[in-house]
Amino acid sequence: MCGRLGGRGSGDAEGHGDGTEKRVSEGTDRIGGPGGGERAARRDRAVRAAVEQGLLGPGAPLVALLDVTGIRESAAALRSAFAAVTAPGTPVLHAFAVKATPLVPVLRLLHEEGIGAEVASPGELALARTAGVPAARTVLDSPAKTPEELREALALGIAVNVDNPQELARLDALLASGRTASPIGIRVNPQVGGGAIEALSTATATSKFGVALRDEGAREWVVRAYLDRPWLTRLHTHTGSQGVPLTLMAQGVAAAHALAEEINERAGRRQVDTLDIGGGLPVNFASEETAPTHAEYARVLREAVPGLFDGRYGLVTEFGRSLLAEHGTMLARVEYAKSAGGRPVAVTHAGVQVATRTVYAPEAWPLRIAAYDAGGRPKAGPGVVQDVAGPACFAGDLLATGRALPLLEQGDYAAVLDTGAYYFAHHYAYNSLARPAVHGFLPDDGGGIAFATVREAQSVADIVAESGGARADALVGRDRGAGRA
Ligand SMILES: *Cc1c(COP(=O)(O)O)cnc(C)c1O
Repeated sequence: MCGRLGGRGSGDAEGHGDGTEKRVSEGTDRIGGPGGGERAARRDRAVRAAVEQGLLGPGAPLVALLDVTGIRESAAALRSAFAAVTAPGTPVLHAFAVKATPLVPVLRLLHEEGIGAEVASPGELALARTAGVPAARTVLDSPAKTPEELREALALGIAVNVDNPQELARLDALLASGRTASPIGIRVNPQVGGGAIEALSTATATSKFGVALRDEGAREWVVRAYLDRPWLTRLHTHTGSQGVPLTLMAQGVAAAHALAEEINERAGRRQVDTLDIGGGLPVNFASEETAPTHAEYARVLREAVPGLFDGRYGLVTEFGRSLLAEHGTMLARVEYAKSAGGRPVAVTHAGVQVATRTVYAPEAWPLRIAAYDAGGRPKAGPGVVQDVAGPACFAGDLLATGRALPLLEQGDYAAVLDTGAYYFAHHYAYNSLARPAVHGFLPDDGGGIAFATVREAQSVADIVAESGGARADALVGRDRGAGRA
């Protein structure tokens, strides 16, 4: 049942090694993207099949599903969006922000679709390498790289974006004693302002990321840093994620482009040859429509920063959420249906452990919920205002409050939509709740749905082991604290 899903049949996983994208038709460039309606229909069939095939049920009350078709379509739409606005032959590397969905099979799927990896920790780098993403298609960002991480990245030839002057000094020391194939750049914060979600706005005046370009003396410091170091050939900026308007993102990119032009002018040569414009395309969590699309953003960029696409700069992008979010669904069984203060409450198995942001910041992170019956069929019926709760032991563990949905009853399933990025792959171990299994799905040849396990569910034994189970008496007994293994 849960084997490996077939690939595209090309077997050409390394076909994008030169970083140059082929032009692809703009067939998926419609508002609504590659068929929001089709996506919903695929999801309905997958939910039904998950119940019928026993992936979900009383003994497995929470699973996550990934729509492989949808992920491939989003990857293709991203490639074609930039191919449509760049001069022919422009090297473009789309590096998926691994933090959005840190699952090896997902990274492998994206790699097969011509998408590299943007990593920001030793763990993320290991995931990308395990997925087979080559060093030349990997970018290391992180505000807190250790000397060991930098050394490894340089040895592997992975692109490095330097966050601050102290990190640059470390690179000076490392490069004094060896050579590297790594392209290296500096991350700048254009300080163009924040978006709707403060915690995800990286271009505010006081953001912790990059060199704050408008601070006194900073711009001149950056230019000098490049003029003194011929090996600095890239420039990086990432203006923020969810909640940052496209025009503000484009302003951030424009500021980086203008700085690159200034550096190249003063260097008297094209020292900066590649601009890394980050990710951050917002996702529409309110409906099935894909909006904005990657194509729309590419057009906004072309309007705002025409020089970005004239072929003089190679491009790197780092999209995360916009590639994966809408292709993930969590299915949570309704364990109990009750009523409190006159309001129906469905107590499900999806709460703060898999929807941490939504539970702690519900205004910023509302999620759509769809109701399915115990057989996995979409529920019809009038909208009943109800709460959808999670399993955790605190009152705020709610996925939705006062939401009008067909009444959820015991044994039904609540589907939590658009959770393919930053949700079930970002488990939070509250109440020692288990990480749910993740399965990818595809239509099979016989008109059904085939599933492949991406990640097994965490077992209770795993939880015990990860919670010091082998050290039960570490804190008691005569020799406590004496270096016992
Ligand atoms: C988080 C992050 C991204 C991806 O952001 P999304 O909103 O998921 O597209 C890209 N680049 C950097 C440096 C990031 O920190």
